Amino acid sequence: MKFKTKDILQLQNYIIEQQNITITTHYNPDGDAVGSVTALYHYFKLIMKDVQIVIPNYVPHSIEFLLENTDYIIAEADFKKAKKRLQVTDLLIVADMNDNSRAGDNLEKVLNEIDCKKVLIDHHVSPFQYDINFSYPDASSTCEVVWNVLYRLSKKKVFPADISRSLYVGIMTDTGSLCFSCNSPELYVVISNLLKSGIKANKINQKVFDTYSKDRLNLLGYAISKKLRVFDKQRAAFIAVSLEELERYHYQPGDLEGVVNYCLKLEEVDFCVLISERDKKIRLSFRSKDESIDVNKFARKYWNGGGHVMAAGGKSFLSFNEVVKKITKQIYNKEFIVKD
Ligand code: 5GP
Ligand code: MN
Repeated sequence: MKFKTKDILQLQNYIIEQQNITITTHYNPDGDAVGSVTALYHYFKLIMKDVQIVIPNYVPHSIEFLLENTDYIIAEADFKKAKKRLQVTDLLIVADMNDNSRAGDNLEKVLNEIDCKKVLIDHHVSPFQYDINFSYPDASSTCEVVWNVLYRLSKKKVFPADISRSLYVGIMTDTGSLCFSCNSPELYVVISNLLKSGIKANKINQKVFDTYSKDRLNLLGYAISKKLRVFDKQRAAFIAVSLEELERYHYQPGDLEGVVNYCLKLEEVDFCVLISERDKKIRLSFRSKDESIDVNKFARKYWNGGGHVMAAGGKSFLSFNEVVKKITKQIYNKEFIVKD
């Protein structure tokens, strides 16, 4: 991962000159988001900075343990407090999102309005330009980028266990346990250095991946056995679950995490979608098996979203049935292969 010396020097100056630091990330935070902000938090604490985390909304149960021993505000639960903190912030670090709109409507406004130094650490394509951008779309995860930033700041390769644990979780969750975005030899050097801190990879994997409730496992079974639609000719598939179905399985944030990847397990499928109805909108997750199907472009062009070439997300304010109809038509017409 190539860094400009001037960017690291500028970040070093910001850290020295600015009184307090706030770290934030995207709406519906995942392992990479929470891993990044908590690792950065522990690092800034280590060097005695005034630091706080602002997370847009609830953190899924499986990664909640990363918040232990950190000072964080969940904006959706206490918006006033989050806004107040952001308004007095001298240095804002935005991790695992490529522009303020990813923080959700309420927080986006505040992030746009505040006047402070702003630094981006991320791995999504097409980032918004902040005062400094550490944007590496080829990186496995934002946590891998964070490790590289911390290494250049501290000249150390092995960090305390709390930092290492957070970064390990972000890398494992964003790569599907090293199943995708996992071709770079450097990534394994980073993981090796994380393990040198003494963290136990097997125990962390259990904590993150083996914490399903019965409802979550049953929802997964139901989605795969009853809701999967495969289009053999187009080599595509989707799963669509309505709000009523989610409520039947007592849906909790994070319960659909990873479900979309099961469609790709079919040998005859190269592109897939998970459609899920939420309170006020429809969420979509897109995955592909090959760079020739660029789901980031597809999500941007048709579904108010974006992400990566082979993993992206989007949203719609159409009705659930209308979204299902639109996706069905797009699959029949192979519109998921977006030409430039
Ligand atoms: P997931 O399908 O797991 O929610 O998201 C896959 C990838 O797409 C993640 O890297 C995520 O950050 C990105 N992504 C998900 N939803 C959106 C969205 O609404 N807008 C943008 N720009 N990216 C998204
Ligand atoms: Mn990520």
